[in-house]
Amino acid sequence: MNLTTCNHCGQVFQDPNPGNESENYPDSDHFDSLIKCYPDTSKEETAYWGCPTCCTDSFLVDNINFNALDPVYKIVVRKKLGQDCTEGESAEIKMWLKQPYARMAYEVKLHKDIQFLFPMEYGEALDESLQKEKGLN
Ligand SMILES: [Zn+2]
Repeated sequence: MNLTTCNHCGQVFQDPNPGNESENYPDSDHFDSLIKCYPDTSKEETAYWGCPTCCTDSFLVDNINFNALDPVYKIVVRKKLGQDCTEGESAEIKMWLKQPYARMAYEVKLHKDIQFLFPMEYGEALDESLQKEKGLN
């Protein structure tokens, strides 16, 4: 499986059009394929593979660029590749879940990924948030 990173928004996608430097990662069902972007819908022949969030291929690089990923997303990407997280990373996931955050499309997706890949952390974060709410009443 070939992957590409968008250096602009820091998301990792499956690379349908890998370059020579592209690494072969272990297969995972959890990476979204890049969708085709049409910068001008009247000219469909100009279709190219681009980041669906940034709608451009200008920032796409071969492989995973961990330096471009935000800390929580980095943990999620490693988990998608089958690596277990450490206790510290597990705590970081829970902290992220408990923070109020803007429901940007990218964050909603990350939230769903975490719910699926880290069910234990997700449940605990939910419980702890509910207990905190009760404590305030
Ligand atoms: Zn992007």
